[in-house]
Amino acid sequence: MIQKICLVIGDPIAQSLSPIMHSAGYKALGIEKEFAFHAARVPAENLKQAIDGMRGLGLRGFACTIPHKVAVIPLLDQISEEASKIGAVNTVVNENGNLVGYNTDYLGITKSIVPHADLVGLKALVLGAGGASRAACFGLTSSGAQVTVANRSIEKGARLAADFGANFIEISALKSLDQFDLILNTTPVGMGNLLEQSPINPALLQPRHIVFDTVYRPKNTALISAALKCGSKIIYGLDMLLHQGLKQFELFTSIPGPETVMRNAIYTASEA
Ligand code: NAP
Repeated sequence: MIQKICLVIGDPIAQSLSPIMHSAGYKALGIEKEFAFHAARVPAENLKQAIDGMRGLGLRGFACTIPHKVAVIPLLDQISEEASKIGAVNTVVNENGNLVGYNTDYLGITKSIVPHADLVGLKALVLGAGGASRAACFGLTSSGAQVTVANRSIEKGARLAADFGANFIEISALKSLDQFDLILNTTPVGMGNLLEQSPINPALLQPRHIVFDTVYRPKNTALISAALKCGSKIIYGLDMLLHQGLKQFELFTSIPGPETVMRNAIYTASEA
């Protein structure tokens, strides 16, 4: 009998690949009769009821996505040091009625970069200043990278940069990427109604750059397509999804997730 139920909550949520990824992991490890993972659309105004429901129903865990990552914090009993520094929670674990919040997004970013580059001394340009950027800046600066944040809103971007000891530049003022090794997009530019747009002028890309787009639907964003054309190294947003999910899997089940199975599940689903 299934005893441990996990949900990804957000609004919208229909496109989430998390249920496919976690369920593939449960099946591969033979724990699919013990654990189940589903998606639930929870509008912002229903978050408190959802958290009350988690307590009342004894659900094992929530993966939180837009718009809940910040709003969920005051509803929890405890949050990890990393989540506190980042200021956002993407994972809630129910430890016998004690709800603990974690952030695994920063690991999703750093672990995706590790196969491609040494993080110590890496000169990273982080585009955007929202929750994903905060996770990126925390992960990168705490791993020894030198970070510059580029954002549309100056005040928000400058504040975020100051929080993590990073530099700041207004995104429209970027005229050269000569000083950077890694270009990391954490804006939603490239998806939804911004599908065909790139967050920076693609003509500025160089073959020596590593270009990482956190957007994963579509897999080949305008930025990734331009990077491929230029001959840059690329990192897909699906890798971030995988690595943040692997840590989440371990927090929910206390077992390391099967990386190859979970990777194949999301890459296959993203082609569908
Ligand atoms: P967020 O908090 O809403 O922040 C979005 C940031 O993007 C803001 O700084 C905003 O700038 C900037 N932005 C929005 N539209 C823009 C535009 N048209 N031009 C330039 N900048 C623009 O969002 P978030 O939670 O950080 O998430 C951002 C993206 O990260 C999501 O869309 C998602 O694709 C991706 N993500 C991926 C994963 C994964 O596992 N792969 C996980 C988490 C997030 P202003 O400050 O000027 O408004």
